[in-house]
Amino acid sequence: MENFQLLIGGVRVAGENGEFAVIDPASGTPFAQCPSGSLGQLNAAVAAARTAFAGWRQSSADERRAALHKAADDIEREADGIARLIVREQGKPLALALSEVMGGVAWTRYNADLEIPVEQVEDNPRQRVELHRKPLGVVASITPWNWPFMIAVWHIIPALRAGNCVVSKPSSLTPLSTLRLVEILDRHLPPGVINIVTGEKGFGSAITTHPGIDKIVFTGSTPTGQSVMRGAASNLKRLTLELGGNDAAIVLPGTDIAAVVDDIFNAAFLNMGQTCAALKRLYVHESQYEAFAAALVERAGREVVGAGLEAGVTFGPIQNSEQLELVGELVEDARRLGARILCGGQRLPRAGYFYPPTLVADVTDGDRLVDEEQFGPVLPLIAYGDVDDVLARANASSMGLGGSVWGPDATQAEALAARLESGVAWVNCHAQIQPNTPFGGSKMSGFGVEFGLEGLLEFTGQQLLFVRKENLS
Ligand code: NAD
Repeated sequence: MENFQLLIGGVRVAGENGEFAVIDPASGTPFAQCPSGSLGQLNAAVAAARTAFAGWRQSSADERRAALHKAADDIEREADGIARLIVREQGKPLALALSEVMGGVAWTRYNADLEIPVEQVEDNPRQRVELHRKPLGVVASITPWNWPFMIAVWHIIPALRAGNCVVSKPSSLTPLSTLRLVEILDRHLPPGVINIVTGEKGFGSAITTHPGIDKIVFTGSTPTGQSVMRGAASNLKRLTLELGGNDAAIVLPGTDIAAVVDDIFNAAFLNMGQTCAALKRLYVHESQYEAFAAALVERAGREVVGAGLEAGVTFGPIQNSEQLELVGELVEDARRLGARILCGGQRLPRAGYFYPPTLVADVTDGDRLVDEEQFGPVLPLIAYGDVDDVLARANASSMGLGGSVWGPDATQAEALAARLESGVAWVNCHAQIQPNTPFGGSKMSGFGVEFGLEGLLEFTGQQLLFVRKENLS
């Protein structure tokens, strides 16, 4: 069995609280042990990051860039092994895990190459005024279990590129690929610039109130995000909160079903639906409702459900038993209310947390399956008749991560998309993200953005430099 260790101040150490088991969702049984750190080790990691910050903040853009590109080279070289680790701890099929790793490489290289600008506000005979960006200090990254490697990259790489030192705290359900990422980064960075602590309980809240941490970048559920925000008030930590979503998609009348069915299916069931910005509520005009449902059922039937390392598998298990239970509960609630389960709708009778792609018709707003984030392989199809009415229903959510409008007339679709209350509005696509496009939620889906220059600048504080030029004598 592979040996995983914490990394504190450039030294690999065992957890002072022993180890805990990491479960393979394809079998429901442990496949590896993860070190369980103590709160003392968290303090040591924060102290090591603080010490390293004195040097790292002075490093040049070129030094940081070179270090991150070397790390990206190593990730690329070791991609297959990392992807297999992701499959074991997270459950997704190998090809998807490999794309997660290569996405991490692309995001790393993009951030490495970004320039942090100095904004010239004024320059005249009297004065020169410039806006500079400085690193914040110690950044803590708290990540979820759905895209463990890629989200860790999204947090850690821009933080480092901006000159901060980092303490990473991955989900205890999927800690191993992040341990591997941090080990790779540490090869190319001064000791203490990157640290990682793993543990089962208590670390998250200890981080939120820790006086030695200057910023938290958090991705996870809205209730946990609220708790992070409460704790962060203690020393006014800067925050980026990427929280839950319940993205609506509106399909306008006259849409070419054959042309979009694949994209809509993939946007809803990407990573078995366990994606923050997955399409989670599908509103279809009543004129096309049955035809759309039939096309989606046909598409779902082409998925091959199984363990992510089995050849030919395209659809893996849900990551954990709690999420499996929630998905089952939401489907049962819909069934009880008279919904039609078009396909799937039952946990598979085998070991592991398998739930097939599930499409549910004849549900509506107010039903739990529509109103709550399912974060799993089930999509509710909701019929509508009036465009203004459906827009109001799409917006009647406390969440506001993404949303999309699909239709034959791009101008009409774009006009409607602009009225969505969401951080991202897509037209004829959904869940499209890329390293250069700022991404973040509105309403209770969080605040702050990731990606692009705007995302990088979230890891900096401003300093206005105001130089009076007139001679004082
Ligand atoms: P979660 O909130 O349960 O856990 C996220 C992380 O927070 C984990 O590392 C966990 O250990 C830690 N944590 C738990 N309690 C904590 C506390 N009191 N203080 C600080 N940290 C604590 O979320 P999850 O179940 O791992 O992930 C699923 C959720 O994440 C979904 O709601 C999904 O939409 C959301 N998500 C959002 C995005 C986005 O970019 N907006 C991306 C991925 C996932």
